[in-house]
Order: sequence, then structure tokens, then C-alpha cells
Amino acid sequence: MKIINFFKNLDDILDHYFPDRQMYFRTNGDVRFIKVSKNVQIFLCTGLLCFFVWCLFISYNYVYLDEILTEKNDEVEQAKENYLKIEQQYAELQNEIQKSAAALEQRQKYIQQVLEENGEVMSPVLPLNDNDDFTAPEYVDVDENDNDQEARNVIRDEKLEKLYVDLKRVEMQQNQLVKNMNDEVDQKLSFLSDTLTKAGITPEKMMELANLPLEPSASGGPFIAVSNISEANLDTHAFDSLFYKRAHLENIKTALDHLPIITPPEKHYVSSKFGMRRDPFTRKWATHNGLDMAGWRNTPINSGGAGIVTRAGRNGAFGLFVEINHGNGFKTKYGHLSKVKVERGEKVEANQLIGLMGSTGRSTSTHLHYEIWFNGKPIDPLKVLKAAKDVQKIKQQKHDA
Ligand SMILES: [Zn+2]
Repeated sequence: MKIINFFKNLDDILDHYFPDRQMYFRTNGDVRFIKVSKNVQIFLCTGLLCFFVWCLFISYNYVYLDEILTEKNDEVEQAKENYLKIEQQYAELQNEIQKSAAALEQRQKYIQQVLEENGEVMSPVLPLNDNDDFTAPEYVDVDENDNDQEARNVIRDEKLEKLYVDLKRVEMQQNQLVKNMNDEVDQKLSFLSDTLTKAGITPEKMMELANLPLEPSASGGPFIAVSNISEANLDTHAFDSLFYKRAHLENIKTALDHLPIITPPEKHYVSSKFGMRRDPFTRKWATHNGLDMAGWRNTPINSGGAGIVTRAGRNGAFGLFVEINHGNGFKTKYGHLSKVKVERGEKVEANQLIGLMGSTGRSTSTHLHYEIWFNGKPIDPLKVLKAAKDVQKIKQQKHDA
């Protein structure tokens, strides 16, 4: 009932405001009129109202157009900026990964080189060659569509993350390998140091006399030459350590090149050792500065190592005598020879014939009195010859493969 009342009231109101009207026109005395019904009036008024509202909207847009455009532009600009930021972050990460990959590859080459030098066979750890995942940023095979941007980013991130994890795994494997190599070099170094010290040759003194640094110079690790690689975010400690230790080992080996390692008479038996003993003539305790090696008369006596003959000929109690300077603080002396085969000032090779075994000078039987001197002091030839054998083992290691 209420609805019917409402329409009745509305009808009354419309009747009140829009009663049927007549419009009169007079032209040259003729009078005409048009009847304008309620419905036509309502239609015209509604049309007028719509037109007015439309004009208002247009005016508003016209006045505020600039602001609207600016706002839209800002939104676009912001979206662009965000996109660029993500792209830049991605590029940085990619660059970082590229650097790490290059550094790891370089390291791998170094590891390989060290292993080859040690005569060991390398088992490949690196899947670095099949990094076809890793090309330009466009590598993701998804349609160029903004809607897919997020999906692409997700795929890209996943690939990068996988690559990153792979690289970290490789780095860990390398570090473990290098740690083992470090241990190996440590063992060699301490073995050499022990062996030499037992033989009366302190490595420090030997290095000093050989004019070699006890600490390898800090300049030029294995990865310095490769640009940007040192910037890669990797742990370099183990590699640096290995590099310097190996340089130190090489220096020791170089210094040891001067160590007389040849046993002068190949066939012999030891008739008297180095150190305190009763003098065969006076029967009193005295220091024996050498090793007596007995054998057949005229057994060939060879040079203990390469060097220069500093004495050759008669030398008091030593009889016919040869002295060779091997450099870096090493000297050898040979006494009681039956014949001298070299001259003073002559350059000799290791194991070169220098004389024959005899019993000249203060001697009771045919033997070679052999002395090895280091840094101005006599050291035990037996210990040196044993050390020489051990050193030789380490030096030859790379050739045994
Ligand atoms: Zn002797």
C-alpha cells in the first residue's frame, strides 16, 4: 500500500511542477500554439540535467588533467624503477657468480698443476664446463609478457640460487682438497726439517747460506694475475697458505741442490765412524771429523756432488787429499788417496772420478777418510747420506708417478 501511495504522491508532485503547458507563437498576426505535455517536460529537464552534469565532468577533467597525467606517469616511472632495481640486483648477483666461477676455475687449474707436479692423477670435481644455465639474463625461455615477469623472476632466481649452491659446493670441495694438499706439504716440510737437522744441517742456516728467503715473498700469489678474481667473495686462506708453503719447499729443494749426496766409493765398508773415538796411533780419545770407508786399493773415489776443487795434492796427515767446495756452505774432503785425478780450481760434476783409494799420510790401512762440512763445521757423513736418500725420495716424488 505504501508503494502505491509513494507513486501517487510522486505523480501529484510532478503534476504540480510539470502541468500541461501551451506555448504561443504569433507570426504576422497568426497565433499558433504548441502543447507541451508533462512527459515531454520531464524528458527535456532530465536531458538538460544530464548535459549539465556532463559539462561539469568535462570541466573537472580539463582542469585536473595535468594532475591525473602526472600521477599516472609517476606510477609508470615507479614501476620502471622497481623493475630496473631488480634487474640491477640480478646483474650484480650474476656478476658475483661469474667472478666466483672464474676464480674457482682458476683455482682448479692451480690444483691440477700442483697435483700433476706431484705426479697425482686429478679426479675432476668441477661441473663448471656445463654451465649452459649461465648465459645472458634473457636465457629464461618464457614469452616476453609483462604478466610473466614475476614468473620469469622466480625461475631466474631459482636458477641463480642453484648455480650459487653449486659454486659453493665446488668451493668446499676445493678447500678440502687444498687442505689435504697443505697437510701433505706440511708433512714434507717437517720431514725435511727433521732429517736435515738430524744430519747437522739446520734448514734456516742452509737457506741463509743459499741466499734464499726463509719466508717466501708475499708478492704474487697464484691468482693475482687474473683480473677481478681476487675480488671474488671466496676464502683464499688455504690457497695462499698452500702457495707459500710450496714456494718454501721449492726453496729448500733448491738449497739442497748443493748437498753432497753421492757416496764417494760405491763399494766399501765403514771402518770408523764420525765423532769421538780412540786414535788408532796414540790410543787416546779424539774427535774423528770424518767417516772411514775401507775397500780395495785403487777403488774409484767420486765427487760427492758438483762443485769446484779447492785443494788437490799432499796435505800432511791426510796424505794425498782433495777438497771440493759445493757452494751454499757445503764442502767435502777426501784423504789418504793413492792417486789424485783432479786439479785445484777444476770444476767437477757430481759422481765424477776425483781420485783412487789408498793409504797415504797418517793411515794404518787402505781406506778413504771422507769429511762433509756445512757452515764451517764438520757433520756426520753417514747421517748426511741417509738424509740425502730421504731428500731424494721427496725430490723424485713427482717423477715416480
Ligand atoms: Zn778417518
